[in-house]
Amino acid sequence: MKNVPVMISNRHVHLNREALDILFGKGYQLTVKKPLGTPIFAANETLTLAGPKGSIHNVRILGPLRPYSQAEVLRADCFRLGVTAPIAMSGSSNMARIKLIGPAGELDLEKGLLVAKRHLHISKAEADEWGVRKGQNLKLKVGGERPLIFDAVEVTITEMPATVHVDVEEGNAANIKNGDLVEVLLSKESK
Ligand SMILES: [Zn+2]
Repeated sequence: MKNVPVMISNRHVHLNREALDILFGKGYQLTVKKPLGTPIFAANETLTLAGPKGSIHNVRILGPLRPYSQAEVLRADCFRLGVTAPIAMSGSSNMARIKLIGPAGELDLEKGLLVAKRHLHISKAEADEWGVRKGQNLKLKVGGERPLIFDAVEVTITEMPATVHVDVEEGNAANIKNGDLVEVLLSKESK
């Protein structure tokens, strides 16, 4: 069993250069509202997500720019938008259609909407030490007043200290907040 801090994410958008040019104007630069751990930051800039049934305004953009554009939303957001988005890892090719609306233009992404699959970030060195590998699904145990075991927490290897990422709905379901420690159950303990 390993204790790992949790980070809870709300709906947000990642953009590439081309998308930022269309939505905010050619050559536009995102400005930093709040650093979220190098190099990631919450930008001051927001945009609107538009689906067939409704829109969601003031959706935060996370910088820096990426090679691809995608919106990560909550399950409840999908009902508001009228879209069925897959639960997938960031950067997946399995995404739903969504329209992004910025101050300078609109962008219809054929594949650009997902509900983030909960995951564990871990460094290569730690993964080796723990005996886990990329793509593996682990269980996660939360204590407190709304104790819960999350299954299907996917391992992703990145050079950041071990951190669990869940979204606001998952965090609320387990009554946890940013920085709380949760237990990652390693395979021999989770059977
Ligand atoms: Zn993450």
